[in-house]
Amino acid sequence: MCGSRPSRPGPLADRRQGAASNGEHDVCVVGGGPAGASLALRLAELGRRVVVVEKAAFPRSHVGESLAFGVMPLLEVLGLRSAVESAGFLRSSWATVDWASERNRYEVHGGPSLLVDRARFDAILLQAASSLAGVRLYQPARVVRATRVGARWEVALDTGEVVHAKYLAQASGRSRIRVSSQTGALPGTKRAIGPRTLALYAYWRDTADFSVGEQGDTLVEAGREAWYWGAPLPDRTFNATVFVDPGPGGDYEKLLEQSKLLGPRLRNARRLSEIHITDATPFADLVPATSSSIKVGDAGLSIDPLSSQGVQTAIGTALHAALVLNTLMDRPEDTELALDFYRARVRESADFHAAAAADFYLRQAVCDGGDFWRRRVPASKPKASRELPAPSARIARSPHLRFEPVAVAEASHISRRDGLKASGKSYAFVGEEIALAPLLFELDGPMSAFDLVRRWSRRLAPQKALQVLHWAWSEGLIDPERPGP
Ligand SMILES: Cc1cc2nc3c(=O)[nH]c(=O)nc-3n(C[C@H](O)[C@H](O)[C@H](O)COP(=O)(O)OP(=O)(O)OC[C@H]3O[C@@H](n4cnc5c(N)ncnc54)[C@H](O)[C@@H]3O)c2cc1C
Repeated sequence: MCGSRPSRPGPLADRRQGAASNGEHDVCVVGGGPAGASLALRLAELGRRVVVVEKAAFPRSHVGESLAFGVMPLLEVLGLRSAVESAGFLRSSWATVDWASERNRYEVHGGPSLLVDRARFDAILLQAASSLAGVRLYQPARVVRATRVGARWEVALDTGEVVHAKYLAQASGRSRIRVSSQTGALPGTKRAIGPRTLALYAYWRDTADFSVGEQGDTLVEAGREAWYWGAPLPDRTFNATVFVDPGPGGDYEKLLEQSKLLGPRLRNARRLSEIHITDATPFADLVPATSSSIKVGDAGLSIDPLSSQGVQTAIGTALHAALVLNTLMDRPEDTELALDFYRARVRESADFHAAAAADFYLRQAVCDGGDFWRRRVPASKPKASRELPAPSARIARSPHLRFEPVAVAEASHISRRDGLKASGKSYAFVGEEIALAPLLFELDGPMSAFDLVRRWSRRLAPQKALQVLHWAWSEGLIDPERPGP
């Protein structure tokens, strides 16, 4: 809801020739997954010279096949929506969820999710990026070390080659790269933002078809010692994943047998793949950007897989990172502004996803007091949502609110715009387009909620005005009128 509006840039002067005539690149992107490919694509569109290093030959398999509908506007920004939509992936409009002692079948929020083959999905993105004139791709090639030498990075590849770039973008997913630097990227600044969790998964064929309606559903279930996720994939295989505590004792097939949703479906199915084991603990990096480096995608923020929004979040961070790097290069005087913007976005996204997952875990833990669920209950109490003000209730601006210029994402740079700060957060827009400062400025003294909506209705449709009031209230920008002295 705050100042971030990714959009395609207008035509920009081609800066390629002057940018790096000595063969040095502006940015070296380590990793060509969704985050790295999106970052490279956008930077090249902004006229930057980019080198991408990807260790795996594509297509390569990857877990994370269910893409929430929210990925679509981001693919649109990348100019890849129709390429992805016509790639023959599945659409899933329904999820069957067995959680907190209830089984429900939901229509998924916003629009159908895409069930993709990540090998093909990731290849579409990387192919689109590497076909641009400003992008050079080393693949397969693994970054073995990145060293900050003077004002540039020397990036050593396992092929023996060395790549030079002014900025380093770490898009290597959950794997770390070795970095030698005093001021650049800082390894080891990650903190867990959710329960330590391992994922055990495998691909299956010949699963039992349930009732016709449920065939394409994503399945989510809370068990005693695990939680489960399953979905059909475009090649008619089925991904069955079990999320467990780290450590010994997670017998994948035994746990699957205990699943009410997955067990019956897999009883006569054939397991096609080995059982993969991967860390699924959500992490956020405390220093996702410095003046010479940036971490995008899972390298900066790995969210809880419960949300199925990892890919969407990875692409979102890449779109912002492209603007941040472009600002660092074009407007060095705005370096702190751009870095603050990026750090705040990563922190807010981490907080949002951590709170959403915690809420979901808490609902289950209330029904099942076992150790597995108790370990998933957040240490701090979730913030209670405030009851909305009645139309006649007298309201006022929060005393914590200050009108100040704030950082916002524009077409090609991070810029300063009139906005608000409150409780350590910055706000410029609500939704995509509505500038917030002029609206809050109109709340120039205590008034009824009804009167405020009426004032705002001169600028906004009344329904929109009401939505903005509810949002500003839940963010704590608007409070009940304080009694006088
Ligand atoms: C069990 C599980 C289930 C998930 N389910 C979903 C889901 O349903 N939906 C969803 O949206 N998200 C899901 N996610 C999250 C999602 O997979 C990630 O958020 C997403 O892949 C992140 O993209 P990325 O580009 O940051 O990293 P990645 O996709 O991991 O790409 C990183 C790339 O970097 C390359 N690389 C690594 N090290 C080097 C190196 N040294 N040199 C060169 N290249 C290197 C790798 O080969 C890889 O191609 C899930 C995650 C887990 C663990």
